[in-house]
Amino acid sequence: MHLILLGPPGTGKGTQAKVIAERLGIAHIATGDLFREAVKHGTELGKQVGAYMERGDLVPDELTIATLLERMQRPDAAGGAIFDGFPRTFQQAQALDEALAVRNTPAGAALLITASDDEIVRRLSGRWLCPACGAIFHEASQPPKKQGECDNCGSELTQREDDKPDVVRNRLERQRPPDEMLEHYRQQGKLVEIDGARDVDAVTRDLLAAIETAAADTDKRT
Ligand code: AMP
Repeated sequence: MHLILLGPPGTGKGTQAKVIAERLGIAHIATGDLFREAVKHGTELGKQVGAYMERGDLVPDELTIATLLERMQRPDAAGGAIFDGFPRTFQQAQALDEALAVRNTPAGAALLITASDDEIVRRLSGRWLCPACGAIFHEASQPPKKQGECDNCGSELTQREDDKPDVVRNRLERQRPPDEMLEHYRQQGKLVEIDGARDVDAVTRDLLAAIETAAADTDKRT
């Protein structure tokens, strides 16, 4: 199954995508993670995308789509994937539709996690990550057992550069899912809205229920 997770930054897409990928045994594909890896390793891609990310701007479609398509070729994505943070533009949505059509595996659902601007700013500015294992914590809603230390592997937690307040505001302004893209999925009957301003488990439950409904609908159609 292929699933699309949409929403402004800070609505918990990464946290939810990880849980869902594990539960369903599908790949977790996040363009943001791929770009951060590239920057960390100083690759050609990293050099091209670093400045956009620092400002909180979108990376150009051509580069983003190429990165996504390459990731989709890896063997772990053969059995399905959840796309996290992709697409963010109408062009990207079209490119993903085409890539999935070629594989004869259209997306089962486009799940949109919603939250108010205030809630998003609160969440992003309190977010802490483990650079070693990728675990995500939050000062208020999901604090680590020991301050500044990862519960899973004990590494020192870090904050993302682009979680600083003025970059957060720019990301919010530029990275709201565009109406044209949402309308695209609405017309396909695939858009499901989930209220993200609740605790992580409640959002996960709603997402899994929506995925089950979408899977049952797909079975009926085939
Ligand atoms: P994220 O981890 O999803 O918040 O992504 C981090 C940064 O990577 C974003 O602020 C953008 O600069 C860039 N990025 C990630 N995914 C995309 C995308 N689908 N289109 C354009 N830029 C992206």
